[in-house]
Amino acid sequence: MAIKLISVSEDYWGDDFPESMPALAQVLLGTGGQKEYNFTGKQRALCRAGMTVVFRYDGYLLGEGEVVDVRDDGWQMIYRPTRVYRPPVRGSNFFKAGASIYYEFTSAQLAKIRAGVEAESSDPYPKTGEKPGMTTHRIGQDAVRKSALSRYKNRCCLCGVDDPRLLVAGHIRGWARGEKQRGQPENVVLMCLLHDGMFGKGLMSLKPTTYQPEFAEKALPVRTLKLARKITRAFRGPTRSPPSDELLRWHRKHVFLGDE
Ligand SMILES: [Zn+2]
Repeated sequence: MAIKLISVSEDYWGDDFPESMPALAQVLLGTGGQKEYNFTGKQRALCRAGMTVVFRYDGYLLGEGEVVDVRDDGWQMIYRPTRVYRPPVRGSNFFKAGASIYYEFTSAQLAKIRAGVEAESSDPYPKTGEKPGMTTHRIGQDAVRKSALSRYKNRCCLCGVDDPRLLVAGHIRGWARGEKQRGQPENVVLMCLLHDGMFGKGLMSLKPTTYQPEFAEKALPVRTLKLARKITRAFRGPTRSPPSDELLRWHRKHVFLGDE
């Protein structure tokens, strides 16, 4: 089975990128359970379920995980952390520095890496006591957007506008408000600037289950309401991971300015 090197890029983490390497290792590999990792372009679609992945950042190897699933056309990897290297080991001790991001280790190389990590700190996580729930680390906004564009086929889900410059991958439950829901595909809808703006400001919402668009009639000027109605069609769902009813209910309760 191939062993893939995953080069962590901080390009898309923004302010959420951990401030130290131990903190990064903790985010990527700390605690049991499953985690999501969203790729940022070049490494997409290179992982398969069952693969071992080794995370690298800034020339150091941080630890390992096992790929559980690959979703969203390869943009998202679900993995289970299996080993953290404490302290991180210098990658160039085990392979040529600057090796391609597509680098694959041999089993012998992996064995060497493991041997190079201090023995007492390299125990795999125990299988027992793991939480089945999904934990999510900061997902690159770029990956969220790419995934949404793909799932919604590059079109606003409410009017069909198909110019990427006018499309926004918006959160149903806002980024700051729903830490747990960050980046979950069920929490992201692809809308044009107008629909995203109306949705984000609570001037419009979607009914759970039916996804029927509804406007906050009393909060909108008559002309705007009329125009919005004119261009808004039935919700066109994504190829997968449609908005969850729970999140839509949350939006209606906390954001929507119209009548329930
Ligand atoms: Zn639209």
